[in-house]
Amino acid sequence: MQVLVIGAGVVGLAVARAAARRGHTVVVAEQAGAIGTGISSRNSEVIHAGMYYPTGSLRARHCVAGRRMLYDFCVSHGVAHRKYGKLIVAADDAELGKIESIAAQGRENDVEGLELIGGNAARALEPELSCIGALHSPETGVIDGHGFMLALRGELEDAGGAIAFNTPVTGAALKSGQWRVAFGGSEAGTACFDAMVNCAGLGAQALARAIDGYPGSRVPRLVLAKGNYFSYAGRPVFSRLIYPTPMPGGLGVHVTLDLAGRMRFGPDVEWIEHEDYDVDPARADLFYARIRRYWPALRDSMLAPDYAGIRPKLTGKGEPQADFMLDTPAEHGVSRLVQMFGIESPGLTSSLSLAEAAVDSLDGSMPHAAQKYRHQT
Ligand SMILES: Cc1cc2nc3c(=O)[nH]c(=O)nc-3n(C[C@H](O)[C@H](O)[C@H](O)COP(=O)(O)OP(=O)(O)OC[C@H]3O[C@@H](n4cnc5c(N)ncnc54)[C@H](O)[C@@H]3O)c2cc1C
Repeated sequence: MQVLVIGAGVVGLAVARAAARRGHTVVVAEQAGAIGTGISSRNSEVIHAGMYYPTGSLRARHCVAGRRMLYDFCVSHGVAHRKYGKLIVAADDAELGKIESIAAQGRENDVEGLELIGGNAARALEPELSCIGALHSPETGVIDGHGFMLALRGELEDAGGAIAFNTPVTGAALKSGQWRVAFGGSEAGTACFDAMVNCAGLGAQALARAIDGYPGSRVPRLVLAKGNYFSYAGRPVFSRLIYPTPMPGGLGVHVTLDLAGRMRFGPDVEWIEHEDYDVDPARADLFYARIRRYWPALRDSMLAPDYAGIRPKLTGKGEPQADFMLDTPAEHGVSRLVQMFGIESPGLTSSLSLAEAAVDSLDGSMPHAAQKYRHQT
């Protein structure tokens, strides 16, 4: 098939690579001038283990399978990554209950190696920590997200695929069994494809509404939840990722490490109406208060506004968390069209598994390759 993938973020690139490796002719249309300029370059670059999400949800399944695929991919393709491990820490009895339920959820989700440890054991691992207990996840790590996307692009191009930059898709309609797609940009025009996959991130809903034949009533609402980060000016004091218990809408202001071991903090959750990536320095007060619950020795003036990313959520403040939405021909009845909505965290971790599922649903081929990465333990 001639397959059009819309969006050259990590999900679009993974889908395009998977389709090209199955022998399809693949074009990626990207409205920006480079790969990974959207959500994919504004995240924590954490390879999540998969313990937070309800068992059987797409987030749980694709996170666990995707994580295993991603570590294998990093090794085989020389993508920089480090399995730092992570501690989710409890500051009081109520939070102890929360980490116990996260541990139980994780075990149900088939996450390997989870271990509940006491405060002293946690401090033996990370002496600066203040907590009464912690959940240790040895499978959590960090990846060079851009390096990963470059490797995906390389494999896509090796398999004959191509990316058209500065090429926004403005609409599509089914004509005689093919998708007739309209492109904007300096070389605006139309082209026909057998199949189409919408991986447009924050633009997915707008694009879906411009697809003639796809029921508008299926397009979910888009809720923007900004995540702000603050950098840390001093020498790193932790050698693992440190997370508090999750907060509504996010995983809590945590310590992430880059591949050089430098610490940064975030993301928080700020519900916004319009895309905006400025980090308000006044949010530092909130960061100091949250971080000092698990790291009391954090000194004043050590945090500086860094960057922000926006989660493409499907539900808003106070509402239950939504799952990823992979709307395939089996669900919506329109042939050879896959729409991906709400691919927030852990979308980077899940990307390789999501990609196989998307391509499976286009060509109805073999059960997807991610199967073998499930139930590995
Ligand atoms: C603050 C934050 C922290 C996160 N942390 C993690 C983490 O630690 N680990 C993890 O696994 N996940 C994390 N995530 C989630 C992860 O970053 C995303 O799930 C993933 O990057 C989504 O990739 P994408 O390809 O769907 O979207 P994007 O990267 O946004 O790509 C979509 C692309 O589509 C293009 N586009 C849009 N509309 C059109 C159009 N009409 N025509 C052509 N092109 C179009 C855009 O320009 C963009 O390049 C985090 C997300 C956020 C916001």
